[in-house]
Amino acid sequence: MNCLFCRIIEGQIPSSKVYEDEYVLAFRDIDPQAPTHILIIPKKHYDSVLEAGPRIIGRMTEVAKKLAVSEGIAENGFRIVINTGEEGGQSVKHLHMHLLGGRSMQWPPG
Ligand code: 5GP
Ligand code: ZN
Repeated sequence: MNCLFCRIIEGQIPSSKVYEDEYVLAFRDIDPQAPTHILIIPKKHYDSVLEAGPRIIGRMTEVAKKLAVSEGIAENGFRIVINTGEEGGQSVKHLHMHLLGGRSMQWPPG
């Protein structure tokens, strides 16, 4: 398997895991852009959000919400981002949700 995140799921590449269930894995981003920066990914490979259905996206969103609470960023606010495609800034072609918080966010994003 050539996909970086599939290799993380398989345990071939180490990661700082914060959550795991049958369908979803969450781990800390290697290059954090905020005090809390977690990636939430489906265990099944989807190239992007375009291929994924509402059930898995719903599960990922529920995990992001739970982690926002457990990370202590729910009260002050946080951001969930799914970069998609070239202009969307997606660098890893395995669907992932960024959970960012712990600082004030800018809008519009760069
Ligand atoms: P994208 O730019 O595709 O939306 O997000 C990919 C994210 O994966 C980036 O924030 C990048 O820092 C993170 N990333 C890339 N390689 C690794 C890795 O090997 N381990 C972890 N934990 N994060 C990674
Ligand atoms: Zn993959």
